Amino acid sequence: MKRDFTEAEGKSFDLIIIGGGIIGANIARDAAMRGLKTLLLEKDDFATGTTSRSTRLIHGGFRYLQHFEFGLVREDLREREILLKIAPHLVYPLPFLIPVTTAKDHVIMAAGTLVYDILSYDKSVPGRKHYNRKTTMKMEPNMRLEGLRGADQYYDCQIWFTERLCLENIISAVENNAVALNHAKVTGILKEGNIISGVKVQDKLTGKEYEIKSRMVVNAAGHWMDAVCGMMYGHPKQMVRRTKGVHQLTTRLSNNALVLYAKSDGRLWFVIPAGKYSLVGTTDTDYKGDLEAVYADKTDVNYLIQEVQRVFPNLQTKDIFYTYAGLRSLPDSGDEKPSNVSRAHKTIDHEKLDGVKGFISVLGGKITGARGISEEITNLVCKKLEIKAKCKTAGTPLPGAPMVTREELTKITTETKTDFETLAYLSSLYGSRYLKVLDYAQRGARGMQPLCPHSKDITAQIWYAVAEESTYTVSDFMMRRSGLGLAECQGLDAVEIVGREMGKLLNWKPDEQKQQVNEYKSTAALAQKYKTA
Ligand SMILES: Cc1cc2nc3c(=O)[nH]c(=O)nc-3n(C[C@H](O)[C@H](O)[C@H](O)COP(=O)(O)OP(=O)(O)OC[C@H]3O[C@@H](n4cnc5c(N)ncnc54)[C@H](O)[C@@H]3O)c2cc1C
Repeated sequence: MKRDFTEAEGKSFDLIIIGGGIIGANIARDAAMRGLKTLLLEKDDFATGTTSRSTRLIHGGFRYLQHFEFGLVREDLREREILLKIAPHLVYPLPFLIPVTTAKDHVIMAAGTLVYDILSYDKSVPGRKHYNRKTTMKMEPNMRLEGLRGADQYYDCQIWFTERLCLENIISAVENNAVALNHAKVTGILKEGNIISGVKVQDKLTGKEYEIKSRMVVNAAGHWMDAVCGMMYGHPKQMVRRTKGVHQLTTRLSNNALVLYAKSDGRLWFVIPAGKYSLVGTTDTDYKGDLEAVYADKTDVNYLIQEVQRVFPNLQTKDIFYTYAGLRSLPDSGDEKPSNVSRAHKTIDHEKLDGVKGFISVLGGKITGARGISEEITNLVCKKLEIKAKCKTAGTPLPGAPMVTREELTKITTETKTDFETLAYLSSLYGSRYLKVLDYAQRGARGMQPLCPHSKDITAQIWYAVAEESTYTVSDFMMRRSGLGLAECQGLDAVEIVGREMGKLLNWKPDEQKQQVNEYKSTAALAQKYKTA
């Protein structure tokens, strides 16, 4: 997959999608698989927005049962099963424990897990269980919860490399003849009267501007949706309410994923195992700040730390490796408490709303539900374009599927005289396409060389990413192609090497290379900003 503006310049598309997050990526895949001439435009890199700031779960949303959103939970539990089938190399089952401390909670959680079980009647993951106090303490010996009576267990799924799920949807779209351009910012919407005719786009790497024609445009710009609508209307529009959610990566706290309720405000929060670490989150507070630099501040971190310390008293601020923050896009429905606002997505057909033909916006929607939401949007696009074509995304595995077996990894380890752990890691990132990375590794003596003491990423991944995965900045590679940005050092121990390797491949001058590395360091610094702000 290469970024090539000449593939779009002067051409006319059926559909242009603005935004290369999980929603835009899924729409691009669906539309391309149905044969639509499709163009995806992303102003930064694919998955730079909220898609890379989630709790990294593929879940029905146990929390939404509290708000009786049974339809939404059922839909996402169905999508969870689909993802287990089409992306088994990225999505895997994870047991969740809900510790209970009162008789009332015991009844509520038993009922909650029962309803969750019923709503996922067609699941492939195990059903609910209850453990008594003694067993719960054995399972979680470090957990301290006053009045612990036992725990309920249910299953959901985890996806550690969400960014790659997004990318694989885009790779699949391109394999089905879509054009996908990252670092391509839509700066204007073209209209003839009240009919959409295309977009203006700026190549952010060269500054060059283009006008590209299309019969329809979908606005999947996430929390930038209002800005894109503003371009289309020619005046500001406010439809989105944004709330901030933060996470922190800490030393490993628990054996299982835990569902806990905050003492301060009763909100549900998670402790999620992630290899040697735990991911703790999240918060939910209204946000009116800079959309391009969202970070966890002292108040966010203190809120989480206080809740964690109630259960794991030994955790200290120094045990936090980094934080990250993301924005939810919710319908702007007034003053309702953020956590009470429905998480169901909203499709806005602007023809119905105010007579603008050929423009659809999509607001909200989880990573879990993105495929289904995209099916709905693409159905609407096809209806408007009078194209009869069925959705194929639920039954077609993503490019990295199937999951690589232990036997295959053992065989390849012997054949290539490589390290099993490294191959296992590569297959967790690329699925069956890890062989492509291995192929690049054979092309140079440094191919298998590790990049960082805190992750299993290797040099050949840089060569592969630049040649085949539309990778143009150091941040693209660190944050969204490899696992480096998620390592405990945030990849800072590897960033200079990455800069040098990418510089050689992309012919960067020394200043440019330095600037690229510094840009990544500034992004990484946001994750530590809570120490001062
Ligand atoms: C704290 C938190 C935790 C979450 N946890 C989970 C979870 O565990 N599981 C789950 O299923 N969901 C979770 N979600 C929800 C999920 O992450 C989001 O709903 C989803 O990622 C939104 O995807 P998107 O494509 O709509 O938006 P985004 O990922 O934000 O993508 C929008 C893209 O549009 C681009 N864009 C904007 N303007 C332009 C323009 N002018 N030109 C070109 N491109 C443009 C942006 O750069 C961006 O990349 C969580 C959300 C938050 C905030």
